[in-house]
Order: sequence, then C-alpha cells, then structure tokens
Amino acid sequence: MKFGGTSMATPDRIRRVAALIAAEAAAGKKLAVVVSAMAGKTNELVAWADVLGPSAQGVGSVDDEADVVVASGEQVTSGLLAIALRSQGLRARSWMGWQIPILTDDSHGRARIVDIPGEKLGAAIDTGEIAIVPGFQGVTSDGRITTLGRGGSDTSAVAVAAALKAACDIYTDVDGVYTTDPRIEPKARRMPKISYEEMLEMASLGAKVLQTRSVELAMAHRVPVRVLSSFVETLAGPDEGTLICDEDEIVEKRIVSGVAMSRDEAKITLFGVPDRIGVTADVFMRLADAKLNIDMIVQSNARQADRTNLIFTVGRRDAAAAEKLMRDAQDAIGFEEIRVDQDVCKVSVVGVGMKSHAGVARTMFEALAEKGISLQAISTSEIKISVLIHQDYAELAVRALHGAYGLDAAA
Ligand code: ADP
Ligand code: ASP
Ligand code: MG
Repeated sequence: MKFGGTSMATPDRIRRVAALIAAEAAAGKKLAVVVSAMAGKTNELVAWADVLGPSAQGVGSVDDEADVVVASGEQVTSGLLAIALRSQGLRARSWMGWQIPILTDDSHGRARIVDIPGEKLGAAIDTGEIAIVPGFQGVTSDGRITTLGRGGSDTSAVAVAAALKAACDIYTDVDGVYTTDPRIEPKARRMPKISYEEMLEMASLGAKVLQTRSVELAMAHRVPVRVLSSFVETLAGPDEGTLICDEDEIVEKRIVSGVAMSRDEAKITLFGVPDRIGVTADVFMRLADAKLNIDMIVQSNARQADRTNLIFTVGRRDAAAAEKLMRDAQDAIGFEEIRVDQDVCKVSVVGVGMKSHAGVARTMFEALAEKGISLQAISTSEIKISVLIHQDYAELAVRALHGAYGLDAAA
C-alpha cells in the first residue's frame, strides 16, 4: 500500500490511513506500506535548500546535501504512521531507505533504484509486523542519501512490491486514473483498467497521478498496480479504482484512451541554421553531451534557400542550460539567432487503438483549429500524438480533445 502527500497531510488523516491499513491487516494480508511526506512539505524543504545553495563561490554542487534535507519529509510521516498503527494495537515499524536498503545510483535529486534486497524486510513482514517505508528516498553504495525525483514515492512503492513479489495499491486523492486530469475536465471518467503502455505514455506526457518511472518498473516486473482513493471508510471492492495491467486483459477497446497535459516544457528556436549536412547532428550532440533531454524536434526551410530553422523542446528547468550551451556554440554551429519560449505547454492524446486506426491526427487538429489554437510543434509515436501550443490554451485544448474523442462522461 502506498499513501501520497494529501493522504498523509495531517495527524488526523494519518490516523485514517492507519485505519485502512488495520482493515487490510484484519483481512489477513501481510503488508508493506510506503508513504509520502505531508502535502506541501517537500516543496518547503526544496525551497529551504534553494535559499542556501548552490554556493555563490561555486565550490561545487550541493545536490547530495539537498537530498539529506528533502528526504526528511518522508522520515517524519513513516514514524508518525508507525506510531498511529501501534496506538491502534498493531505491530508496525519504520524502515528508512538506508536500513532496508533501497540502493540507488548517485544522481542526486533524480536517482534510480538499482536494487532492493528484500530479505530483511520480507522476514520482518512474515512475522506479521507491518513495515512502513518512506517513499522517495534511497541510499548510494557509499551510504549517501538520495531522492528519486518529484513524485518518486510511487516508484519506491512499485520497487518494494517488486522486491517482495507483491501487488501494489497506490492510494491517492482521486479514486483512479481518469481519461484526463479531473481537475481540468470535470467530465473525465475513471478507467477501470489501463494498459501499462498507455499509462506509461500518460505519465510521461504529464498525468502526474503516477511517476513515469513507477510505471516503467511495474511493466518490467509485471507488478499489478491499482490506483485507489484513500478518502474512503472501507476497503475498495474489486470494481473500484483503476487496475494497470496487460493490454490483453482489457476488453473495452478505445482508439484514444486519455488526454494528458504538461507545462514542464520550453521551446528553443534556432533561426538561420546553415543548411549543411551534419549541422543537426552537431546541435544534438552538444545537447546530449550535456545530458539535456530533448523531446520534440521540428526542422523547416527558412526563406533563404541555404538556411533552415530548427525548433526543439526541453524540460523547463533545462531551458537556461540549453540556451547557454547554444549561445556558447553559436559561431561553431553558425545559426543567426536563438529564441527561448517558456509560455508553451504540450497536450497529448494517448491510445493503443491508434496503432490500427486512421484519422486520429485529423480529429485532433480539427478540434484544436475549431478553438482557434495554433500548433507550434507536433510529435507522434505509435500510441500518442502530442502538440505544443501556447500555455494560455492548455485547459481549453484538453477539454476540446476530451470531447472530440468521445471521452466525456454522459451528463
Ligand atoms: P499523491 O500525493 O497521492 O502522490 P498526486 O498529486 O501526485 O498525488 O497525484 C494525484 C493527482 O494527479 C490528482 O489529484 C489529479 O489532479 C492528478 N491527475 C493528473 N492526471 C490525472 C489522470 N489522468 N487521472 C487521475 N488523476 C490525474
Ligand atoms: N514527497 C515527494 C514529492 O512531493 C515524493 C512523493 O510525494 O511522491 O515529490
Ligand atoms: Mg504523486
């Protein structure tokens, strides 16, 4: 069982979480529970670390110490939940990331889990003790504390489930995965099931209900994951929540299953790039060497025959680094001008059905045109189409597409 920040936000809510866990234990389950920090806590800790670092003298990165700070939010909630469970008469103990251990690489702030030796944890659970594990945190082979990136408790939960060969129930503030973010489109519908592939696209395209990496892990280890509401009095029945599972377990087939939106985008345009073979490779080699992740790419002809424009997108927090890199290489690459645009967002439609259906893109472009929304870039894969648009139109676009693909709930 995993409980997110809203579910753990106050002592009172933690007591309710403890009651749900007690019900599950009473049903005879052996349990590991992964928890997030209280809602808002991680933001506060990140802000504190940001105020004091990185050092103006440039004596080096402080990412490892920021992780020490930021990982503490989950330490607090795991202890509190163990206290709440004990006071309800249950046997429970907390297990910090370093005690299990949850071993990660050393990319502080966005570490990846490399191994979770499940023996000690499994043995404790087998005695009937409930194990409480702080999400989000891990430890390097050198014993340094790491964190898994925002939303990383989902990944901790799936990884612990995989290590224990268990199923994983993710309890959050919505009662499942919806056709789009229900906060944007109230007509969104809960999906009883969604395939790993579609959930992976939805998550990586901005549906933050699950961290992308958690879905990757679930898919690789075939962990059955359910998304459920923690704001309930009794345990969920079989028809509640959303099961993330293999495609062939899903009877109802739709062409488009969901709409996702991400504001974490920045568009970089290089104007007047010399039209010679190898220039595009040069640009993207520089970005790759700096470990900057590129998403959409558009190359077009400029008015002069020998120059082109090159547009690409990066994550918003990488925009400044990408811009500096390009400016430093302006002479070598030979482009005339660079522009960075942060007022963009990416809206995507996802569905395994589009593999075998024509006209999916047409529906998308028509629906957006009808609302007067102009497209700045487009990218596609087998099961998704994404467009980059001005961020002022984000919600409008999500709702228009949700309707256009027939996803709206009946009134
Ligand atoms: P937690 O703190 O439990 O990890 P999150 O805030 O990370 O919860 O994720 C839950 C939120 O994800 C929901 O409140 C909802 O607004 C948002 N969300 C975005 N897309 C979707 C979707 N397709 N289905 C359900 N929730 C979504
Ligand atoms: N507390 C961390 C965050 O807000 C991890 C999580 O909640 O999943 O990103
Ligand atoms: Mg989350």
